[in-house]
Amino acid sequence: MRSIRRGDTGPAVSEIRSILTVLELLSDPEPDLFDEHLENAVRAFQQSRGLGVDGMVGDETWRALDGARWRLGSRTLFHSVPDALTGEDVRALQERLLEMGYDTGRPDSVYGARTAHAVAQFQREVGLTPDGSCGPQTMKALRRLGRKVVGGRPQWLREAEAFRQSGPNLVGKTIVIDPGHGGGEDAGVVVPDGPLRWTEADLVFDLAARLEGRLAAAGMRVHLTRGPSPAEPMSGTERAALANTLGADLLISLHLDGQDTPAAEGVATYHYGTGSGSSSTVGERLANLVQREIVVRTGMHDCRTHAKTWDLLRLTRMPTVRVDLGYLTSPVDRERLINPMFREQIVEAILAAVQRMYFPVERDVPTGSIDVRQLRMALADRA
Ligand SMILES: [Zn+2]
Repeated sequence: MRSIRRGDTGPAVSEIRSILTVLELLSDPEPDLFDEHLENAVRAFQQSRGLGVDGMVGDETWRALDGARWRLGSRTLFHSVPDALTGEDVRALQERLLEMGYDTGRPDSVYGARTAHAVAQFQREVGLTPDGSCGPQTMKALRRLGRKVVGGRPQWLREAEAFRQSGPNLVGKTIVIDPGHGGGEDAGVVVPDGPLRWTEADLVFDLAARLEGRLAAAGMRVHLTRGPSPAEPMSGTERAALANTLGADLLISLHLDGQDTPAAEGVATYHYGTGSGSSSTVGERLANLVQREIVVRTGMHDCRTHAKTWDLLRLTRMPTVRVDLGYLTSPVDRERLINPMFREQIVEAILAAVQRMYFPVERDVPTGSIDVRQLRMALADRA
């Protein structure tokens, strides 16, 4: 679907207006015009939800807006098949249950089987009929107990423990590399350069293919989410579902960034998190490692790591990061990115980060100072 943006009119615009008015992000409900006020309100909403801030309503923002209508307790929640209930009320419930130590999985705003199971467990423990649905009775019990029982961040501790138990070895681990965009019209950021035309989709595919070779040589099972020129574009949800089906141990998504101004440059890495405490600790660690290795090895400008709730980060069941490897719109970054030698350097950095994930050598060897062969030898020594 095309994004709804400034200048648009129609029923979809008035729908967006009314949701944002209820959320008190917009004060003057006007007719169905997407004006500057509405654009600002959309930006504020996107920022508050950890979405990309572009002031336009595309698929992802639309889904978040749609989910935002629901406040916890305003409707009965239950496990509906095949179309699961989604919304912010579901996420609020999941976070509440997680705080209390129930395993709902990652708070993904989707009322799936695991959430229903956690609700049933809670109901059993407070003496309610364990039907796995959350109606007024269950809400009352949650309100009564919720504030008193806080167990920290059990989901993330569990994730970290599962990761630790998988052992300090790359051999046999499954990693999914996700080159962004590709397929149909979706080339990502495109920059014409004389007779040449650089696209994000092609460059990140090249990086993914190089990385695939290196990771496979290190003994990992490697899957790419797409080929060099798929027929259809793929959503973040589809990419996440693929990685879940493969039972992947890690997922690394590769993108480039773009901006109107050529001055914007640098590398940034993203992991799952709402920005308000609920964050994948293993994902955060991988993001920090990837970011650090790239910055130290390539000297690219450090745009840091950030918590986001993008579909791909939210719906995957394994530690997932997305790295934006420079701005194709920056002459500085572009010059480097189109050089295959530089892309090798990036691949080397990501490989080192993955190695460090499974084999913490921080104490032994400073970031960026060793090459991967040494790291592999160190690994072999310890094994
Ligand atoms: Zn992209």
